[in-house]
Parts: sequence; structure tokens; C-alpha cells
Amino acid sequence: MSKNNEDDVLAYELHGNCYLNITYHCTLRCGFCPKFNGCWEVQGYDLLIRREPAIDEILAAVGNPSRYQQIVFCGLGEPTLRLDVLLAVADKLKQQGATIRLNTDGLASLVHARDVAPELAGKVDALSISMNAQNEAIYNQHTRPKLDGAFQAMLDFSAAVKPYVPEVSMSAINGLEGVDIDACRHIAEQQIGVQFRQRELDVVG
Ligand code: SF4
Repeated sequence: MSKNNEDDVLAYELHGNCYLNITYHCTLRCGFCPKFNGCWEVQGYDLLIRREPAIDEILAAVGNPSRYQQIVFCGLGEPTLRLDVLLAVADKLKQQGATIRLNTDGLASLVHARDVAPELAGKVDALSISMNAQNEAIYNQHTRPKLDGAFQAMLDFSAAVKPYVPEVSMSAINGLEGVDIDACRHIAEQQIGVQFRQRELDVVG
């Protein structure tokens, strides 16, 4: 995979997909996150990037998107903090026939102080939102949000984005203290009306 001059890993290959690492900033400070445990390495890739890469750099790191099943905005940072860059890159890649997935904390509308859900239309094919927990107390315990109201904002975004993105799912991590996977599944499937995905600790994707 391509690296830029400073050896930052902007794009890396996993499971036949191309994962994009476009920022190191996060809205959350998850206790289970490798980067908050002194490790930026995931599946052998050092994902510590030292600056915010430009649109052209990201596109160059991807190369030919037809080599991959999906282009996935992920990484050890929250992609929607750079929403303009994310959407511009997604748009360019969609024009080349790529399928775009976004892994997100679901806090973009809270951070940007507007409903950003419509902006994803036509640019993101699949969205995976980290629910993380079945209630605000457990959510805050594990994710330590920088902004108030994060749990409810994540739920609101998950519902708001359904008309604009063909495939929406929510996830929670199995094995975290206090996290009730069945309750999380119920919220996703019955309350929000999207798919639920159970994840396992330290497994990217
Ligand atoms: S949102 Fe993701 S990258 Fe950010 S702190 Fe949490 S687990 Fe880590």
C-alpha cells in the first residue's frame, strides 16, 4: 500500500477492502481503543499519522479503487471530523465505481452543529455506527465523550441517516464491562430500525 513522504499510512488493505486513515482526531476517548493504550498499530499497520492529509494525497494512496470490494473510511480517528474531505474523496471514488463504507461514532451532526445526514446521500453506500452501549452511563464509561449529549446524538443520527444511506448498521463490542449486547441489538433493530453487528475486542473492520 502507498505511504506518503513521512511514511504515514493513509490507506491499508484488509479483508479485500481498502481502509482509509484520514485523521488522528476523535470526538471520543474510548478506554478500549489501542491509541489510548499507547498503541497505534492495528493488524500490523502503524496508523499514527502526524498531520491531516489532503484530498489528493488520500486519493493517491488508494490508487485504483476497482482493486477493492469496498473503500472504508475507518482508522484510529473519526473520519467525519473531516467531513468535507471525506465527502470529496468519497465523491471522486464513487465516480470511479467504488463502493464506500464509513465507520463512524455517529456524532457528526453533534460536532458540526447541523444535521449532516443528507450530505451523505449518493456518497456513502454503507454506514457502520458505533453504538457501544445500551445506555448513556455505560456509553460514557467506555467512550468518555468530549461533548455532552453524545449518546442521544448518536441515536438521533442513526435514525436520521436511514433515508440517505442504503445500508446502515450499528455495533457494540462483546466483552466490555456492563455492555448488554442483547439490549444493544434491541435498540438497533427495534428502536432505530437498522441492522446490528456484534464486534469483538481488537478486531478491525
Ligand atoms: S472512536 Fe474509535 S478511534 Fe476514536 S477513541 Fe474510540 S475506538 Fe479509538
